[in-house]
Amino acid sequence: MNKNVVYVDNNATTRVAPEVLDAMMPFLTDFYGNPSSIHTFGGQVHKHIENARAQLAALIGAEPSETIFTSCGTESDNAAILSALENDLRRRRVVATRVEHPAVLSLCKVLQQKGYHVDYVPVNNKGQVCLDALCRMVTDDTAIVSVMWANNETGNVYPVQEIAEIAHQHGALFHTDAVQAVGKVPIDLKKTRIDFLSLSGHKLHAPKGIGALYVRRGLKFNQFLIGGHQEYGLRAGTENVSGIVALGRAAQLAAQHMDEERTRVAALRDYLETGLLKSCPDARVNGNPASRLPNTTNISFEFIEGEAILLRLNEFNVAASSGSACTSGSLEPSHVLRAMGVPQTAMHGSIRFSLCRYNTKEEMDLILEKLPPIVRLLRELSPYGRETAKSHGRP
Ligand code: PLP
Repeated sequence: MNKNVVYVDNNATTRVAPEVLDAMMPFLTDFYGNPSSIHTFGGQVHKHIENARAQLAALIGAEPSETIFTSCGTESDNAAILSALENDLRRRRVVATRVEHPAVLSLCKVLQQKGYHVDYVPVNNKGQVCLDALCRMVTDDTAIVSVMWANNETGNVYPVQEIAEIAHQHGALFHTDAVQAVGKVPIDLKKTRIDFLSLSGHKLHAPKGIGALYVRRGLKFNQFLIGGHQEYGLRAGTENVSGIVALGRAAQLAAQHMDEERTRVAALRDYLETGLLKSCPDARVNGNPASRLPNTTNISFEFIEGEAILLRLNEFNVAASSGSACTSGSLEPSHVLRAMGVPQTAMHGSIRFSLCRYNTKEEMDLILEKLPPIVRLLRELSPYGRETAKSHGRP
């Protein structure tokens, strides 16, 4: 483990938990057989896949047979939406929010190019989905409604159960991208009418390259990857056994520690957020603090660039993020903050801190010590920041 880094970018990816690494290692070393093989050496691996499936299903309140392993959250999102469209050729409309991850939004763009109609549901300035607009958009021609369980940038949690009901009233299916929610908040699919749910191992302390898709029992599912008979014939390709075992163990750990971790991580997040808002003038939280993941805060430091803040934080080995990992790298402001109508002066200066079970109060104290002087300095360097500070009567 890299002990020097203060890692507060857990919505981008997480550290593999030591217990998870222990569980998966034998399947990279001693037990490397193909689970589809007739011989005992390979075949014995199969029961570990089924064990992992049961562990994952328990975390989300599903039946093991409703859970298909995939390669990542993106594959799960794509597979769910495409399956719904292929299974009902008369319905050529999709409804998705403006704040979905590119794993959904980029697919929607491609679907539009192919002649499908996509309705994008707006959000308000806190990032809450406008349910009235959503109700108007879902019609008897809608094949699927896709709304994320929780947003990767703001941490906002959405009323997915309620939205699933709205979709069903029109005979449409409902998919939720729960990549950021699984392992962080309780999920009990038995109590919902959700048809598809996507998740990804690397967001809950399993490695990258393993994901899963929940497909409600009895639902017709069209294969996304076509080939062999793996995963009940629903997802071809030799199983990523070590990844599957890792995801199962990570799910088991999340289920065991969810209650205590949620409280502890939220307290650390609130400590950081309150401290930063107190010590940095013209800072504001983006999102809806009343309904948020316990680990996420997205704060805009007005009149300066988020990237400049990140580079200076990086000098102190603090790893945070501006916007989502997928959008950073370009200086385009985040599509989520744009959809929320965050003012220009705040949009470019947003930083996302996303915590996990391994963060400590000492780490939050380090950020609270280093960040306010960085913000002050960058404002002094920025002509816009200086002018605005003067007009606010500050030096
Ligand atoms: N959906 C959300 C909300 C995400 O945050 C991410 C990753 O950041 C994905 C989907 C994509 O998941 P993966 O990286 O496993 O493809």
